[in-house]
Amino acid sequence: MAKNEIPYKIYLSESEMPDKWYNVRADMKNKPAPLLNPATHQPMTAQELGGVFCEELVKQELDNDSAYIDIPTEIRDFYKMYRPSPLVRAYCLEKKLGTPAKIYYKFEGNNTSGSHKLNSAIAQAYYAKNQGLKGVTTETGAGQWGTALSMACAYLGLDCKVYMVKVSYEQKPFRREVMRTYGASVTPSPSDTTNVGRKILAEFPGTTGSLGCAISEAVEAAVSTPGYRYVLGSVLNQVLLHQSVIGLETKIAMDKYGIKPDIIIGCAGGGSNLGGLISPFMGEKLRGEADYRIIAVEPASCPSFTRGQFAYDFCDTGMVCPLAKMYTLGSGFIPAPNHAGGLRYHGMSPVLSQLYHDGYMEARAVEQTRVFQAAEEFARCEGILPAPESSHAIRAAIDEAVKCRETGEAKTILFGLTGTGYFDMVAYEKFHNGEMTDYIPTDEDLEKGFAGLPEM
Ligand SMILES: *Cc1c(COP(=O)(O)O)cnc(C)c1O
Repeated sequence: MAKNEIPYKIYLSESEMPDKWYNVRADMKNKPAPLLNPATHQPMTAQELGGVFCEELVKQELDNDSAYIDIPTEIRDFYKMYRPSPLVRAYCLEKKLGTPAKIYYKFEGNNTSGSHKLNSAIAQAYYAKNQGLKGVTTETGAGQWGTALSMACAYLGLDCKVYMVKVSYEQKPFRREVMRTYGASVTPSPSDTTNVGRKILAEFPGTTGSLGCAISEAVEAAVSTPGYRYVLGSVLNQVLLHQSVIGLETKIAMDKYGIKPDIIIGCAGGGSNLGGLISPFMGEKLRGEADYRIIAVEPASCPSFTRGQFAYDFCDTGMVCPLAKMYTLGSGFIPAPNHAGGLRYHGMSPVLSQLYHDGYMEARAVEQTRVFQAAEEFARCEGILPAPESSHAIRAAIDEAVKCRETGEAKTILFGLTGTGYFDMVAYEKFHNGEMTDYIPTDEDLEKGFAGLPEM
């Protein structure tokens, strides 16, 4: 199809939206390893998981076989408020780069939470409500997940308790206020409201917290409050399942115009947006129907894929959660304090970890000053101020497009633009003032994290 026949923005109609999520595990020969009980090291049973997560989500978590799972009508109706999301042809960026490459991005920042996280937040809140629960607890780092979940809970009339990493709570008061606008209670973590929080505070007085710590507190709050369950915004199989709506819409839109991506790129924190974007394409690759180059992009300061170990590890600092087999830096790993760009979780989705381990995808780590350069370059020509997390994918997409300029190849590059960065202007400010530095952990730094891996 000629270039000028492809619009800047490809929108699907509501009736073209997928009515099922796609479960990539169904097509994986090597399934992701099961979650293990941290005490017995036996696979977690549905009953054990049911104490922490709501029933329907436990089923989805354990289901390695159903390729498609219906999206309930109520969730589809909610999706219609902000989906289908646009697939954008980055004509302006291509021109600026002088590349023959064709660049597309799927933009998930068109909702108040400012990111793709709402796709799973509404699903998790819906199943909790359906089970007759009173509320949910969760953790949030930068605040996007807490915001998305607060919105979803407000919509469904569910209580929402968010444990927010203390340093973000103090440095990102606006995120906190958005969550409170939606009626959530927001507690800085570690706090003295849980046993695990009190223990961490006693051991590390003055700590500014971490995601792993906030997860421990949120899990404890859920299991000790009647009518509550815990929900998590990334990493888990169920979250990748919900996020498959991103990839399914992308595939429908591309098929409609006869476009086939050569390279698919996404940023990777816990792996949910990348897993969702690539799902239907990975399915084709696993079934031998098509081939795609798939690249995960992570921060050089938190390099789970590129320098982590593929091992069973704790998902949280307090070691109360099940063990997951994943690429990990160790649950005690905390990125250097100058790290500004999100994607700071120590582990990675077990599904993506297995696919990476089996050679179905690549990973690369990028330094944050180059990430913010890419963010600025993109903002100046595409008119969207990207989240620092998303800008990891932009960096890799630009790098690939520049390679095409050098080789003259007109490759088609697709990347996930997960959200907007308006709450991250302190990080942009540091970059503009030349105060942003890159810290790459040494092998010695990483050894300390690996030393904390559980003995199996
Ligand atoms: C949370 C978040 C990410 C990273 O999380 P994944 O689970 O790896 O997708 C990326 N971009 C934005 C905007 C986010 O909010």
